[in-house]
Amino acid sequence: MEYQYDLFVIGAGSGGVRAARFAAQAGAKVAIAESKDLGGTCVNVGCIPKKLYSYAAQFNEAFSEAAGYGWSVGETSLDWEVLKRQRAQEITRLNGIYDNLIKNSGAELIRGWAKLLDEHTVEVEGQQYSAKYILVVPGGWPMVPDIPGKEHVITSNEVFDLPVFPKRFLIVGGGYIACEFASIFNALGSQVTQLYRGEQVLRGFDGDIRQHISEEMRKAGVDLRVQSDVASIEKKADHYLVHLKNNDTLEVDAVMYATGRVPRTADLGLERVGVALGQRGEIQVDANYRSNIPSIFALGDVTDRVQLTPVATGEAMVLVHYLFGKGERKLSYDNIPTAVFTHPNIGTVGLTEEEAREQFDEVVIYRTDFRPLKHTLSGSSARTMMKLVVDKASDRVVGLHMVGDDAGEITQGFAVAIKAGATKAVFDSTIGIHPTAAEEFVTMRQPVTE
Ligand code: FAD
Ligand code: NDP
Repeated sequence: MEYQYDLFVIGAGSGGVRAARFAAQAGAKVAIAESKDLGGTCVNVGCIPKKLYSYAAQFNEAFSEAAGYGWSVGETSLDWEVLKRQRAQEITRLNGIYDNLIKNSGAELIRGWAKLLDEHTVEVEGQQYSAKYILVVPGGWPMVPDIPGKEHVITSNEVFDLPVFPKRFLIVGGGYIACEFASIFNALGSQVTQLYRGEQVLRGFDGDIRQHISEEMRKAGVDLRVQSDVASIEKKADHYLVHLKNNDTLEVDAVMYATGRVPRTADLGLERVGVALGQRGEIQVDANYRSNIPSIFALGDVTDRVQLTPVATGEAMVLVHYLFGKGERKLSYDNIPTAVFTHPNIGTVGLTEEEAREQFDEVVIYRTDFRPLKHTLSGSSARTMMKLVVDKASDRVVGLHMVGDDAGEITQGFAVAIKAGATKAVFDSTIGIHPTAAEEFVTMRQPVTE
């Protein structure tokens, strides 16, 4: 049977664009459909605008730290309209770059909402396209629980373009997005309250990291309340009145929910074709990203595994290799480094202390907590925490964790060492770079005893 395309990709986000470009470059005839802006979540309402707003917020921190270094900084104020405009311009530039990347690869871009009609046919805006393989990469979508007043809340989709800068901002959730935005808006000048239903934010991260970042966020001014949740939200004339489950009330200008993201599988024709979905609506795939329908593949956030851009692009490379390259290649899901762009950042790779204690007989912990050199004069009370988790039997460093400035940048390099199986002896024999915070990772000698 002759198909119009070798590969039809639904969704031009992190995973979709990577798969379409590299499949086309490998000689496949490829089409990619996108209903909104090229680049998907990461480029438009995720990683990139988030990091730009984090940089914007760092200026405010620097203004207040400058006096200790002899600077007198005059009146400062944030022009929210300028920040939004500058961000939008940069994102539009990136959308254009994605457009060029797709065109230059030879893949065909089709604008509109795509749906599966059958195992080899996709429909976009009334037009039908046939393909040997179909890759479904529609990403995820914020999940907001049903609470009275749900219609008043925003999510990360809307936060970048809030019409008015929220002077009093309530953020609900304790994961990546809630913690990052609580830090960022706090440093931009909002009075932020963050509510988390559990005992400590960032479930799944190392216990010391969770403890340290909670302290740092509170010191920086975030009103972080744990074991706390919203009962209902009322709209008043010029604010929202939020009733908490413990009967407290809060008056705020905006409420953002960051309570997780769910696979975006509605209205794609998946049921019609019989694509098997899991409990959270995720497309179920095998080790080669193939669904139960042999011609249909899925990867990235819609499979609800690790929701990170480099994982989606890594999976796309593996799939292209599998379909159009020379044989099988697998992505290793071990030791995926990750950063949380709180202020200060979190960087982490490998096992948490809790995980390591379950896996190994004896675990040795190295930990340091110090005032960074910069803050000896800045007046800031922020402290950096660094931690190594070592399997005693093999001497391998199996986990590396940090809360501190540039933790994301620092952790990326150390992730290579961890991936390569570096032992603590290798860390010890590595010369530090002085004076940096990162050198602490190669100079910690005394295990934590308690
Ligand atoms: P997406 O990038 O979401 O792409 C899906 C695309 O498909 C979208 O463009 C969508 O419009 C399109 N689409 C959906 N359905 C259809 C259809 N039927 N027809 C046509 N087009 C369709 N990850 C990091 O690694 N680092 C970070 O710092 C980071 N920060 C984040 C901050 C926020 C606020 C959020 C929400 C996420 C962040 N992430 C971050 C996660 C990262 O953005 C995602 O893991 C990544 O974008 C997933 O890529 P994807 O290809 O699976 O989906
Ligand atoms: P997460 O899954 O990280 O966190 C969701 C949070 O919401 C958890 O604290 C969870 O609590 C809480 N929660 C869930 N349901 C409810 C509810 N009904 N009521 C109250 N609280 C609730 O999701 P995010 O939305 O923060 O982010 C989605 C994903 O995007 C991340 O997991 C990450 O993979 C990716 N991302 C990556 C970033 C990066 O790389 N820097 C930045 C931003 C996002 P509990 O712990 O109790 O379940």
